[in-house]
Amino acid sequence: MNDSPYIGRFAPTPSGFLHFGSLVAALASWLDARAVNGRWLLRMEDTDPPREMPGARDAILQTLDRYGLECDGEVVYQSQRHQAYAAVVDRLFNMGLAYACTCSRKQLEGHDGIYPGFCRNAGHSREGAAIRLRVPELIYHFKDRVQGDFQQHLGREVGDFIIQRRDGLYAYQLAVVLDDAWQGVTDIVRGADLLDNTPRQLYLQELLGFSQPRYLHIPLIVQPDGHKLGKSYRSPPLEAGQATPLLLRALRALGQETEPELLIATPAEVLEVARQRWRPEAIVQRTTVPEADLH
Ligand code: GLU
Ligand code: ZN
Repeated sequence: MNDSPYIGRFAPTPSGFLHFGSLVAALASWLDARAVNGRWLLRMEDTDPPREMPGARDAILQTLDRYGLECDGEVVYQSQRHQAYAAVVDRLFNMGLAYACTCSRKQLEGHDGIYPGFCRNAGHSREGAAIRLRVPELIYHFKDRVQGDFQQHLGREVGDFIIQRRDGLYAYQLAVVLDDAWQGVTDIVRGADLLDNTPRQLYLQELLGFSQPRYLHIPLIVQPDGHKLGKSYRSPPLEAGQATPLLLRALRALGQETEPELLIATPAEVLEVARQRWRPEAIVQRTTVPEADLH
C-alpha cells in the first residue's frame, strides 16, 4: 500500500470548526496523497491556546472521520512539540540569526506590517521580548503546482519576522517548518491564503538545512459577492448524512467531475471514485461557490 515516497498532511488550527474552505483543503491534500498511494498525516496546530476554541480539536477529528478522510499514524499535536521549537529558537538566537525585539504594537504602527528593524542591532536580552528572525535582502521564489511562479522579496515585503512571541508562544512559521521536516512531508497542499507565507518558510528551510517540499495552493473559495470565505462561515460539526453532498461540492470546487448518482454513495465510495479520477491540473486558481454550498 504505502510504497510511495509521497507524504502529505493536513494541519488544521483548532480556533474553530472546519468550514467549507478547510474541507476543500483537507480533501485536496488527501486525494493528492492517496492517488499515488502516499501517506497522509494529520497535525493539530494548537500553538495558540488563547485563540483556541474549546472542543474544536475533537470536533475537527470527528468531522474528518465522518468524511472518511482517514490519516496514517498518530495525530501530532504542536502543543507537545515545544521542546523542539525551543531548541531551534535558542540556536538561531545564539548564532545571531535571530534577535530580541521589545517593540510595542504602537511603535510598529504605520509600517504596513513590515517590521522596520528597530531592534535589529539593539542587543536586547530575551527576557520578556519577542524573537525575530533576520531576513536577507533577497527574493525567494518557488513554483506552485497550481498558482505557478510566486516570489517575494523578504526584506522589502515582509521584514524580520517573529518566531517566538513575547508571551513565549511559538509562531506558526517556525512550527510549520520544523514539523513538516520532522514528519518527512514531501508535498504541501493547502489554501492559497498561505501562499505569501511560503517564502518565509523557504528561508527557514534553507537556514535549517531542510529539503524543500513541493507546494500546491488550492484556490481561495470566494463567496458569490466576491468576499473571501471568512471565519464567520465556520460551520458546526457535520451531521452524518451531510458528508456525501458536502464532499461532492468540495470536489466541484476543485474542478473535479462528479455525477448525481454519487449523491447516494457513502463518503468512502465518493472518496474512492475521486481518488481514482484525481486530476490536480483541473484545479483553477480562483473559484466561486454558490451561497447554498457554503453552509
Ligand atoms: N494551520 C494552518 C491553518 O489552519 C495551516 C498550516 C499549513 O497548512 O501550512 O490555516
Ligand atoms: Zn523591535
